[in-house]
Amino acid sequence: MIKTLLIANRGEIAVRIARTARKLGVRTVAVYSDADRHAAHVVACDEAVRIGPPPARDSYLKMDAILDAARACQADAIHPGYGFLSENAGFAEACEKSGIIFVGPPASAIRAMGSKSEAKRLMQAANVPLVPGYHGAAQDLDTLRRESAKIGYPVLLKAAMGGGGKGIRVVEREEDLAQSVELVTREAIAAFGDGTLLVEKYVTRPRHVEVQVFADRHGNFVHLFERDCTLQRRHQKVIEEAPAPNLPDAARATLHASAIAAAKAIGYVGAGTVEFLLSAPSDQDGAAVYFMEMNTRLQVEHPVTEYVTGFDLVEWQLRVASNETLPCTQDEIRVQGHAVEARLYAEDPSRDFMPSTGKLTRLSMPDDIRIDSGVREGDTITSFYDPMIAKLIAGGATRGEAFARLANALDETAVDGVRTNASFLATLARNDDVAAMRIDTSWIERTLMGSAGAPAPQPDDTLPVLAALQALTVRPAGNDPWDASDGFRLNLPAEDVVELSIEGGLRRFAVTRDAGALRIDGHAVTLIEATPGTITAEIDGRLRRATVGKRDGGVALFVKGATLVATRHDPLAITQGAASTGDLTAPMPGTVVAIEVQAGAKVTAGTTLLILEAMKVHLPIHAPTDGTVGELFVALGDQVMEGAPLAHIDPG
Ligand code: ADP
Ligand code: ADP
Ligand code: MG
Repeated sequence: MIKTLLIANRGEIAVRIARTARKLGVRTVAVYSDADRHAAHVVACDEAVRIGPPPARDSYLKMDAILDAARACQADAIHPGYGFLSENAGFAEACEKSGIIFVGPPASAIRAMGSKSEAKRLMQAANVPLVPGYHGAAQDLDTLRRESAKIGYPVLLKAAMGGGGKGIRVVEREEDLAQSVELVTREAIAAFGDGTLLVEKYVTRPRHVEVQVFADRHGNFVHLFERDCTLQRRHQKVIEEAPAPNLPDAARATLHASAIAAAKAIGYVGAGTVEFLLSAPSDQDGAAVYFMEMNTRLQVEHPVTEYVTGFDLVEWQLRVASNETLPCTQDEIRVQGHAVEARLYAEDPSRDFMPSTGKLTRLSMPDDIRIDSGVREGDTITSFYDPMIAKLIAGGATRGEAFARLANALDETAVDGVRTNASFLATLARNDDVAAMRIDTSWIERTLMGSAGAPAPQPDDTLPVLAALQALTVRPAGNDPWDASDGFRLNLPAEDVVELSIEGGLRRFAVTRDAGALRIDGHAVTLIEATPGTITAEIDGRLRRATVGKRDGGVALFVKGATLVATRHDPLAITQGAASTGDLTAPMPGTVVAIEVQAGAKVTAGTTLLILEAMKVHLPIHAPTDGTVGELFVALGDQVMEGAPLAHIDPG
């Protein structure tokens, strides 16, 4: 077995790898950037080495610094985790050259699957079913146009070197092809340093099903069944589960056999995932299975497979890397029960899921399900790295049980300091269409997103009423109406209306007292208890309890995974908001990855002007009013700071 393992990653995956290494008695070495000195993954390891400043290209992507750290700590192996250097064939080679075991496949296998075009050529030769498409070398527009016509619209343009759901664009009609080719090429060059494209038939309403495979250096290949990752937003996975529900036996057999064939065709070693699309059953007599790509690393969603098979996949990786044979034969791998994982992100669903950075002043999660997290309360979510807070993994005897547990766990999750997608995830976990598998990869966009890209609001009267009650709760002598730390009383005589700014909108609550009974907006309310961190009240005969966090000039309330920020109504702030000029500034730091208009263009309110990107998130910047684009202050590829001017719109 490996003696010392350097973990070339950060966050939850680094913590998770360290856990198994310790279980196996392997000494662990963390690497960290200056932003991560206090990070959980540093604490989780036996030793830690600084590798550079915060930007990933100066730290977690810096091969030399990582190899130096490995040598300095006498590490005999490096685990790359996922993302960062995990699918970099050059890094795998550099490890081999330095006499360090790379916990992953041989460089040749990474290279074979690194380009989606190359991968499809190899898979075609191995008789793995492919999405109809063009993955040739000629990239001129005429060729792409001819091939797209042959395939038939709508088609999907994909960056050959792409990943993480980026560099993908649907083209509905031939008229849009030229512009889309230009956009995706530019995005591909900016993100992956390579503008090669491929064209695929756009499979309508498919499911995403992937197979976990494993191989050792002794010629053994197995699969560990499949996962369903159909719940996606913008081609990025949101909730994943195992096994794939409602899968016809024939499709399941094809998936497993094709995945093994794919792994064998490239001499695979270690953990890998072969991703497939499953067409809607109506397309053919059965559901057709199409190879999409192979990820030559551990996958984010591997815990659901661990739950249903009972195996520790990181342990398998370390055993294979240590030259052992696979712990099991195919016959010994069985699925029991069902598991589901949700990715909890620091992002704001009401603002198009833009990343929400800041200090996690509160982070509390249930302890009765598996939580893989790389941050602790008090840590800061920065814009340098992926804003994932944790993965919640729930299991049960049945799919329904697993989803119900997940939903409850999301309810019990309280995060403050950043916004999260917790309540959005809970909504998904309770959705009837999800329960009945009436979903496909664009179902979230089609059914849950309003026109502004935000999920349809879920009415919860309780939270605003609790916020109003909190506003009425004062310290006897204090001047801070939000702070109930010295005991409390209700400030009833002074107010019969409470005005709060809730999520940017003004809300008036009528407060009445009827024979001693308090009513807020018609709801019967009794304050039970207010402590510095909580408020408990009975509202319409039901006990409601919220966690209370302080915010500038207001409070944040958490109930059932939902968060609500309420501040005292400030007329001045509202006026300033309304007197919006046509100047658009960057709401988050990021890179300009697309510019969709030119100076002088006429736009209507809501027109997408440009797209900012930070980590995996694309944020479209819309025109606030009808008008003319006066000036664009940024160019494609520009890095912008938060608040940087982007464009000026002359209203009219
Ligand atoms: P999966 O979720 O199937 O494991 P993803 O494609 O979502 O695979 O990527 C897994 C992780 O790899 C992401 O969370 C991200 O950290 C990283 N990653 C993959 N591709 C990219 C990319 N192009 N840019 C940034 N990060 C990426
Ligand atoms: P990435 O490397 O970014 O993960 P993939 O090729 O795996 O890229 O595609 C990401 C997602 O895009 C898939 O999970 C699926 O939802 C969607 N997708 C990819 N190819 C097609 C296709 N031909 N038709 C329809 N949807 C597709
Ligand atoms: Mg993929």
